[in-house]
Amino acid sequence: MYDWLIVGAGFAGSVLAERLATQHDARVLVIDRRPHIAGNAYDCPNEAGVLIHQYGPHIFHTNSESVFDYLSAFTEWRPYEHRVLGVVDGREVPIPINRTTLNELYGLSLATEEEAAAFLATRAEPVARIRTSEDVVVSVVGRELYEKFFRGYTRKQWGVDPSELDKSVTARVPTRTNTDDRYFTDKFQAMPLHGYTKMFERMLDHPNIVVRTGVDFVDIRDQVDFRQLIFTGPIDEYYDYRFGRLPYRSLRFEHVTLDKEWHQGVATVNYPQTEVYTRITEYKHLTGQSHPKTSLTYEYPSAEGDPYYPIPRDENQEMFRKYQMLAKDDPDVHFVGRLATYRYYNMDQVVGQALATFKRIDEMTRMRPAM
Ligand code: FAD
Ligand code: UDP
Repeated sequence: MYDWLIVGAGFAGSVLAERLATQHDARVLVIDRRPHIAGNAYDCPNEAGVLIHQYGPHIFHTNSESVFDYLSAFTEWRPYEHRVLGVVDGREVPIPINRTTLNELYGLSLATEEEAAAFLATRAEPVARIRTSEDVVVSVVGRELYEKFFRGYTRKQWGVDPSELDKSVTARVPTRTNTDDRYFTDKFQAMPLHGYTKMFERMLDHPNIVVRTGVDFVDIRDQVDFRQLIFTGPIDEYYDYRFGRLPYRSLRFEHVTLDKEWHQGVATVNYPQTEVYTRITEYKHLTGQSHPKTSLTYEYPSAEGDPYYPIPRDENQEMFRKYQMLAKDDPDVHFVGRLATYRYYNMDQVVGQALATFKRIDEMTRMRPAM
């Protein structure tokens, strides 16, 4: 008999397992249909001994001190600030677009933020109501830079034109008039010193937590005795696709190891104009590992395969809301995480969501009379 069954051993499931076991002394069973814990953040040494991320590059960054402090109980950190170059018009230039990008691309010598802002202002197209992923870029950098940096990449990544995607997607990537070439500007930017999987192992290492991998919820739901459920898989799957399938975008990862020490100058190189893949990531930049070989991942977007990205569009959000209404009538089931709440969340946002869910459960438990 378990107090909780938790479906999914990613951030959402593992944070809640840890909280419930340590703070409520609850007996928790965590299952995952994959053969490992850590969800999409899973990392492992490959056959050459290079630490890679099996489901594409995961870079930790957050402005939330409470999320960073919480995870710090399970890992030490390696300070790391992510840098990305894009191959545009045959040159490698910084992404997000910054003053260096503009100077290199157009042979300019813009020297101040004001000059860069004035340059962009001459190109920006006013948009009355910023609604789509096209609007949000075109209104800041104009159509030419939008085409060079965003249109092709987004069509590859999402299988639709940016004009058909919510503005929140491309709004993730800012435009800068300074020369800051970091991908993120968050207060905390670091990688788990010994990798994500080790951090998850420590999170789940508690006598009250039982972990079973390679186990699908549908195969055990009637065989396990549990009081309450936390579900971190796709919510439409949980409800047997009653209102149709929520669209998720997938990726195929091609992992390659080369017999040389380094392949590219920064961790990630984006290909917004050419190639079928969107980006190449070289892991040793992220992990700081010393190794005579180097391992890379090419990301090929795809409609088929594991669900990785909820697709932010109004019509999808409408379908999700129908599932959310069903969930309201299931008070003993908690839907948490990127797939179960159909939100394009980063890792820190999922940790924050899981901690907030625990707080709600905690308050409810205190209000209920003891069983
Ligand atoms: P998941 O990690 O997906 O975990 C859910 C788990 O549930 C899975 O392991 C799945 O196997 C299991 N499951 C589902 N259904 C069932 C079932 N029926 N039975 C049993 N098990 C089930 N975030 C960042 O902050 N920085 C990044 O750089 C970054 N890069 C990313 C790159 C890629 C390519 C992708 C896809 C995501 C990236 N993310 C990044 C986002 C990050 O992966 C997520 O925010 C986070 O992993 C979500 O955690 P989760 O627990 O919600 O979901
Ligand atoms: N994007 C783009 N060109 C780039 C980088 C990003 O068009 O060079 C767009 C694209 O739509 C992408 C989104 O911005 O999906 C968000 O980028 P991010 O790097 O945050 O994507 P993730 O790491 O989540 O895949």
